[in-house]
Amino acid sequence: GAADVEYDMVVLGAGPGGYSAAFRAADLGLKTAIIERYASLGGVCLNVGCIPSKALLHVAAVIEEAEHVHSAGISFAKPSVDVDALRKHKDGVIGKLTGGLAGMAKARKVDVIRGYGHFLDPHHLEVEETTGTSQDKTGAKKVVKFKQCIIAAGSAAVHLPFIPKDPRIVDSTGALELRQVPGKMLVIGGGIIGLEMATVYSTLGARIDVVEMMDGLMQGPDRDAVKVWEKQNAHRFDNVMLKTRTVAVEAKDDGLWVKFEGEGAPAEPVRYDMILQSAGRAPNGKKIGADKAGVIVGERGFIPVDAQMRTNVPHIFAIGDIVGQPMLAHKAVHEAHVAAEVAAGHKAAFDATVIPGVAYTHPEVAWVGYTEAQAKAEGKKVDTAKFPWAASGRAIANGADYGFTKLIFDAETHRVIGGTIVGPSAGDMIGEVCLAIEMGADAVDIGKTIHPHPTLGETVGMAAEVAHGSCTDLP
Ligand code: FAD
Repeated sequence: GAADVEYDMVVLGAGPGGYSAAFRAADLGLKTAIIERYASLGGVCLNVGCIPSKALLHVAAVIEEAEHVHSAGISFAKPSVDVDALRKHKDGVIGKLTGGLAGMAKARKVDVIRGYGHFLDPHHLEVEETTGTSQDKTGAKKVVKFKQCIIAAGSAAVHLPFIPKDPRIVDSTGALELRQVPGKMLVIGGGIIGLEMATVYSTLGARIDVVEMMDGLMQGPDRDAVKVWEKQNAHRFDNVMLKTRTVAVEAKDDGLWVKFEGEGAPAEPVRYDMILQSAGRAPNGKKIGADKAGVIVGERGFIPVDAQMRTNVPHIFAIGDIVGQPMLAHKAVHEAHVAAEVAAGHKAAFDATVIPGVAYTHPEVAWVGYTEAQAKAEGKKVDTAKFPWAASGRAIANGADYGFTKLIFDAETHRVIGGTIVGPSAGDMIGEVCLAIEMGADAVDIGKTIHPHPTLGETVGMAAEVAHGSCTDLP
């Protein structure tokens, strides 16, 4: 059929994967368009994910810090919270970033086509135009022809089938809208997203219960780090129900009545004012008509790709949440650059040794590469070096002496292959461990690198010195 517009490169979805791919493709000389159903660029991460959650977590951290200095003789009045102003502040943060992206698209002459895109065949997408700030369809349609395409359509929150529709029941997107500060809130799913939102809402005054199917909160990092986190956060929670699942929710006028099953399940239904569903995210692979283009989509909706981010159809690539775990923005961006460069004829491949994970809670938990648990499970011989922040002057001064920095080394090569940090700013510090792993650094390389004193980052160097036995700072 006849196309309304034609491009060298069309990117489906304008999240961190999509906009990074489009900008790189345009910079490399391809005539590029992005198709996006939302009014603004930035996808989940900028609009309803990484950035708004961090804007709110920053406010929560400031309140926490203010309480911390009480023991140092400084007292503030109980904070008064204007939720409407806080929401505006958060929206302002998002606006600065999405506005910046729109400018960057314009500067590169990347066309933004607003609407739902789905494949018609291996070289055409149909876009159903959307309007306003929402995803309302106008009824207008456009056919877009492409030489090459990058699928970056992301993921969406999983909604448990037995949970009714009710304004008091939200997913992370709804929670970030800050429409209510409940008295009692249930968080379904004790992963990073659930715990970040629990941190925000508890700081605003809600009492929190968490229900988690697995035997611990925050799957991913080693349990010693999670234990530190749990101790620091115990004050937020009335009940943490592990190895337990929600089996029924009844929405009544007097509240949401929830039944549980499992090891931590209360005998009677429990009443809540608000429920957050954060039991995982599912890829959007089955919602874009991929079969029409001949693109294989796996059973769970992930699109299989090779190291060059190509799908089974060589001129169609896929990147970001839609191609697999971990569903993280920094992974999406790196995959985006590979896909765009390959599409432009460059030799590139996705070859990351490690992808870091961070819980931006209070304290933060950050980890990368091997954990002790993973090494044990694989029977890999490792050496572990742990530097307790109780021996860090800066951590003591900051009231964060409960934290630690742990490095994992390959027992044979002595190279660093993993790291876990728990404490304020752990996420900012883990980058050094990522670099060390990518560069093949060993304990001597890290330990002999002069870190600034007194900083929390210094604990990475100290942990390396622990590993080669030259640390003189331990008590
Ligand atoms: P997305 O960001 O999901 O973007 C996909 C885009 O495609 C969307 O804008 C969508 O509207 C559009 N789209 C989909 N289908 C169509 C279609 N058919 N037509 C037109 N447009 C379409 N990651 C981190 O690294 N750090 C964090 O701190 C972090 N915090 C998070 C907090 C929350 C609450 C959530 C939910 C996620 C968080 N994430 C975080 C994960 C991060 O947001 C995702 O990994 C990232 O957004 C994935 O990028 P993407 O480009 O693959 O897709």
